[in-house]
Amino acid sequence: MEKIVRIELVAYGFSVENLSLGNHAAIGVSNYIYEKGGRLPVTRYVVKILSSSGTCGEYALNWGSTPATFAQMIMAAPHLLGRDPNTREEIYDDLKRDLRAYDRMGTGPLDIALWDWAGKKYGTSVSALLGGYRRRIPAYASTHHGQENGGGLDDPGAFAEFAVQCREQGIGGFKLHGWHNGDVKREIAAALAVRATVGSDMDLMNDPACQLRTWGDALKLGRALDEAGYFWYEDPYRDGGAAVTGHKRLREKLSTPLMLTEHVRGVEATANFILAGATDLVHIDPEYDGGITGARKIAHFCEALGLDVQCHACGPAQRALISS
Ligand SMILES: [Mg+2]
Repeated sequence: MEKIVRIELVAYGFSVENLSLGNHAAIGVSNYIYEKGGRLPVTRYVVKILSSSGTCGEYALNWGSTPATFAQMIMAAPHLLGRDPNTREEIYDDLKRDLRAYDRMGTGPLDIALWDWAGKKYGTSVSALLGGYRRRIPAYASTHHGQENGGGLDDPGAFAEFAVQCREQGIGGFKLHGWHNGDVKREIAAALAVRATVGSDMDLMNDPACQLRTWGDALKLGRALDEAGYFWYEDPYRDGGAAVTGHKRLREKLSTPLMLTEHVRGVEATANFILAGATDLVHIDPEYDGGITGARKIAHFCEALGLDVQCHACGPAQRALISS
């Protein structure tokens, strides 16, 4: 039997020009802003899973590449040693228990590396292993957050101008991430300015990324999105994208579809969130939701309900998943 004989977890650093954390300072998921001349130091992580035949499955984390996720991978990795790397479902199942006190973000990268291992072992792509068939996929432009310093997305008009630039490049959809201070009046102004400038033929999405402080502000922005014909409204307020009752009541009052579950982890919690009526569109992410293995479970659950999923973020694991 093939066995996992070694797991390497590697941290590496680099810096990105013209990016910074602004006043926010904490390097959480997607707190970046544009800053001309800025230089943002970034730490990212890689996992390598080596088996007894010499095959190595690898994955370089992208969106979920945080010290917290890395710590969970350090906790979970020893549990994989000596096991058959083909047994992804059993490993997924065991990690649900091992990481049950946490958000289980450490499972995803390990599972994705096991899919990469299988592709290399059997001489095919992960997409082919998944029955993938799509060769082209639709994409939209998703902005960094609005910024207080000048020069980038520093006012509603700048968002509108950038949306036009994106459309001129042939991009059919545009998603705004607003400012960190959650000023709902400015968020409404940006949402309306973008629609007024691009006209009616571009899909527009709005994702405050949980920066609005209250449900009331979420309702106010939502009403503006209704007026401007937005395609979806994502993670509006400070509940962190987890409040079933709050989102259910937003859905009752708004016509713009809600896109939630980016921050609801795993198939069980996501299924309950959907069945409770708290979202229209469903977010999946192989890094966040227990790997390709876990994200597929949510996708199949949504298929059974006749709901659409959107794959959050970008990268090879997302593309393999979307291809199927
Ligand atoms: Mg989002």
